[in-house]
Amino acid sequence: MNYNAEELAKQLLYRKESVYQRKNTEAIEDAYAYAKGYAAYLDAAKTEREAVKESIRLAAARGFVPYRLGDKVNAGGKYYYNNRGKALYLFTVGSEPMERGIRISAAHIDAPRLDLKQCPLYEEGGMSFFKTHYYGGIRKYQWVATPLSLHGVIVKKDGSTVEVNIGEDDSDPIFYINDLLPHLGQEQSKKPLGEAVPGEKLNILVGSRPLNGDDEKNSIKLNTMRLLHEKYGVTEEDFLSAELCVVPAFKARDVGFDRSMIGAYGHDDRVCAYPALSAIFDCADSKHTLMCVLADKEETGSDGNTGMKSELFTDLINALASATNADPAVVRANSKCLSADVSAAFDPNFSDVFEKRNTPLLSAGVVLTKFTGSRGKSGTNDASAEYIGWLRRVMEDAGVVWQAGELGKVDCGGGGTVAKFLAEHNIETVDLGVPVISMHAPCEVISKVDLYEAYRAFCAFCRADA
Ligand code: MN
Ligand code: MN
Repeated sequence: MNYNAEELAKQLLYRKESVYQRKNTEAIEDAYAYAKGYAAYLDAAKTEREAVKESIRLAAARGFVPYRLGDKVNAGGKYYYNNRGKALYLFTVGSEPMERGIRISAAHIDAPRLDLKQCPLYEEGGMSFFKTHYYGGIRKYQWVATPLSLHGVIVKKDGSTVEVNIGEDDSDPIFYINDLLPHLGQEQSKKPLGEAVPGEKLNILVGSRPLNGDDEKNSIKLNTMRLLHEKYGVTEEDFLSAELCVVPAFKARDVGFDRSMIGAYGHDDRVCAYPALSAIFDCADSKHTLMCVLADKEETGSDGNTGMKSELFTDLINALASATNADPAVVRANSKCLSADVSAAFDPNFSDVFEKRNTPLLSAGVVLTKFTGSRGKSGTNDASAEYIGWLRRVMEDAGVVWQAGELGKVDCGGGGTVAKFLAEHNIETVDLGVPVISMHAPCEVISKVDLYEAYRAFCAFCRADA
């Protein structure tokens, strides 16, 4: 017996293909067009607060209305629940009974950055600075000597809130963290990368001009405070009740001669939040009840009342169940969830930390990650083969280009997502998202075709039969 190896290989062996191999020019152009809306969303939404605002703006334009716990809901209705301006739950009520379950896509809208401390302002060496405390997993050396902007809120004693957004408009000033010149960096250069720039050196340069041209102590600090008072009506004490975030000042830009990629701050996880959001907009007529969760605090462990661990999620499911006379336990048991978060794309510059056979490739489509965690899958959700089998069919039926993924080599590190906090509610959950180059860097890179396949995956999930 003589086998035809080529035929047999085609029939039996799995071959990962890129979106460019699988899709025609028209489909690629659709993907590039879709990416424009995403880039605009990135620029409008650099913090979770801004992401909530921008998402509500987009949702309201599509007929979504505010929901309060206890409100009645109607089939065909489109609602959003704003959790303290930092997390957002959108849902559309389908025509089938709620007990058939809810299709949930859960992404996060916070991103690694530097937060101002509560007593941030000081003066030293002819300059005024803000002290910061970093938020999420950053590589500190990446944040020095780069243009930065300031976003957030200051809540005054009288209860009024001042919104701050400086450094984004071309006419705005930017902010900066000083770095050491190479001429004097000899000792620093010998240090391990993680120790070269200590956290307490991530101080933001905010001024250098004294109040009256005099050299009195603290007159630069005082002048900085005078300007803040003139612009925002705040005093130094008001920083005590402020949330001010320092993020990269640059806008999302196309990357490459072919413009096939986008470089931007905070793809993790807006590159999943945006397609999940646009999928619930475009699939609101699905017979299933849909929910899109845009969570806060993922980068610090999903704790707090705006993180995915908050009981609010349970309360919302219970409210939806009781509004439709459904048993919430049955609703949860029949619900399905995509934990929408990014994955690390294979990077040939650092190939030694990736296991090539199981690492997502850029432009090879949306990534289904069965398990996350560190060491022996510690802290993983580890989705069931049955659920992944169902999703395979859903994606193949819809022609979605997807790939399996794992975050780097075994014992090289690891990471987690919100998946386990949703699965805990007895909900089938798996991680699905977009591969990213330089995750958590001030400027991360994604492929436009992966972004679009994520959108198409969320849409297929929103519509598929159980
Ligand atoms: Mn993430
Ligand atoms: Mn992250």
